[in-house]
Amino acid sequence: MSGHPIECTVDLSAPGRQVGRLEIPKSTNTGGWAHQFIPIATVANGEGPTALVMGGNHGDEYEGQVAGLRLLRELRPEELHGRVIVIPCLSPEASRGGTRLWPNGVNFNRSFPGRIDGPANEQLAHFLSTVLFPLADYVIDIHSGGNTGRFIPCSHMHVVDDPAQRRAMLEGMQAWGSEYHYLYIDIAGHGLLPVEAERQGKIVVTTELGGGGFVAASTHRLAWEGLQNVLRHAEILDGEAVKRDPPATILDGRDPRNYVFAPASGIFETLVDPTDPVSAGQLVARIHSLEFPEREPEPVYAPLDGVTACVRAPSRCEQGDNVLVFGQPIEPSALL
Ligand SMILES: [Zn+2]
Repeated sequence: MSGHPIECTVDLSAPGRQVGRLEIPKSTNTGGWAHQFIPIATVANGEGPTALVMGGNHGDEYEGQVAGLRLLRELRPEELHGRVIVIPCLSPEASRGGTRLWPNGVNFNRSFPGRIDGPANEQLAHFLSTVLFPLADYVIDIHSGGNTGRFIPCSHMHVVDDPAQRRAMLEGMQAWGSEYHYLYIDIAGHGLLPVEAERQGKIVVTTELGGGGFVAASTHRLAWEGLQNVLRHAEILDGEAVKRDPPATILDGRDPRNYVFAPASGIFETLVDPTDPVSAGQLVARIHSLEFPEREPEPVYAPLDGVTACVRAPSRCEQGDNVLVFGQPIEPSALL
């Protein structure tokens, strides 16, 4: 891609299967003219839509990285109509380090739309925003709770304003086939990858596949089978998309009170697990202090009636950490 500091070694307009890499200029004390490599593959065959599939936006979320690598290895042009561009891991250095953030402390998912002359994370965001998103009909960004959260394994979405885009995103979310789905809002700043893709009118499909510092076999299966089913639903990958029966439960997290922050630092004791129903005012967690052993633990109450969607994973918390996330069941027809 001439003119952009990031090089792409595959021809994204060519048919067939190519595996290569993005190269981001990088200068270190041991490598002055180095490049950071990010694997990318394109598999294309004839007419049809394009899906851009990405894992590892956050380095410690491995479900999407494993599914993305498998897609990169196994996908063949003869089994699809259209094109799949896959980047198994957007943040390889963070993946190696087992961290959510890049080694320089930035959250890649707050780097959008990016800047061509910014630091590496903003250059990569700019490349995605200006080169890859415009090629795509579907933008699939696979997240999980990583080290910090135990989320109900689910696909999720922003409730976007445009009715046609909202319906397409609802159907894409449902095609993942998880038992639950979640409607989320941005409670921790701007600059998210999905928001830029939504602004460009894309059908954005995102997930929160479990988390908590480990990946269960069932979650790896959901990542792989859900991804394939979405590609079938998009009529890119051959084969019939499977519809979940009985239908999934959609949890509405659009009321900001659903995101609960630790009132104090200490040892976090949850009293609820993902999928547990709660009532407004119910005691759902306690935060204990070793500094004041005789003090009653700090109580945390459910803000609303609903269902537990995510519980903080590490047992230590700092004041202000997001410790619980809830949602209220909603019918899909309410989104049309
Ligand atoms: Zn994430």
